Amino acid sequence: MADRDARRTALQRLKQQCHSCRACSLAEQRQQVVVGRGNPWAPLMLIGEAPGAEEDASGLPFVGRSGQLLDQLLVAVGFDLEQDLYIGNAIKCRPPGNRRPTPAELAACRPWLAAQLNVVQPQLVVLVGATALEAVLGIKGGITRVRGQWLDAAAAASGPLALELADRRLMAILHPSYLLRFGRDQPGSPRDLTRRDLTVVRAAVTGFGHRRPTQP
Ligand code: SF4
Repeated sequence: MADRDARRTALQRLKQQCHSCRACSLAEQRQQVVVGRGNPWAPLMLIGEAPGAEEDASGLPFVGRSGQLLDQLLVAVGFDLEQDLYIGNAIKCRPPGNRRPTPAELAACRPWLAAQLNVVQPQLVVLVGATALEAVLGIKGGITRVRGQWLDAAAAASGPLALELADRRLMAILHPSYLLRFGRDQPGSPRDLTRRDLTVVRAAVTGFGHRRPTQP
């Protein structure tokens, strides 16, 4: 219980700190700072890119069209969205026009992501899209090549969040906004590939699930 209270308190403090952050120019046009949703005691953390318009308005990550598709895929492979995962973004404030965050913005926001990883301590981390891959591992491009594989420890050890990711298992998946550009469910389609990747993640989470407390 002490661990639960400490983690809850640490996340609330982190949220307050993020809300007063003005470390990059994205603070100027945001409505809200978007930190995370889900179960912070879950073994799995998903990290996306940045809030869009719906997320900026609601204060929650992945609630727009892309987020709804991601939720559908997660549920389809057996995840309980309230219990089995925690989800956040590499960038906590909405880039104007939903443009891609710049390297400087990724760097400015990285300490908040590092703090979030330190509080949540997930055993498994899924990087949702190319920007998350760059923000977390420093890998630019190539997500279609690396997606769906467990990335070896060297990838995390050489990245900018090496300390926070020591001994974690990581996988990159395609971003749901990319999936929305394609047809629905044909075998081999981006959506089908992502469902397969999430099935692998689901199987790995099953091995951890009974060791972590569920959300109260
Ligand atoms: S995007 Fe991150 S670094 Fe920039 S103002 Fe928001 S919380 Fe601070």
